[in-house]
Amino acid sequence: MKKFQILVVEDDAPVRNLITTTLRAHDYRFITSGTGEGAVMEVASHNPDIILLDLGLPDIVEVIRRVRSWSNVPIIVISARAEDNDKIDALDAGADDYLTKPFSVEELLARLRVTQRRLALIQNVSNEQ
Ligand code: CA
Repeated sequence: MKKFQILVVEDDAPVRNLITTTLRAHDYRFITSGTGEGAVMEVASHNPDIILLDLGLPDIVEVIRRVRSWSNVPIIVISARAEDNDKIDALDAGADDYLTKPFSVEELLARLRVTQRRLALIQNVSNEQ
């Protein structure tokens, strides 16, 4: 079975390290970016399976819109509680799900599993057509 590749977009090194350590321990592949601009380039060049996107970065809703203009890749935004309005904008712009900081490793893995199940469903439907 192919390993899922996750694009981790987060400028805070401790949060990014927590995520990448978790991914490595659970057999995911990953690439990282510390900026929204870099994220758009990574999506274009690496075509990841899922994006974890820090909502605290500047112009992040615009980043989601740009990615959505050519890609259906699932986007999970990572938000702080103070960013509730941004979370709504992010979902409206095309994000699929969100995680609120601080989150546990178990919740992160559960969100990824949910997203992988959705991807598998979409794949099955398109194979049947
Ligand atoms: Ca951040």
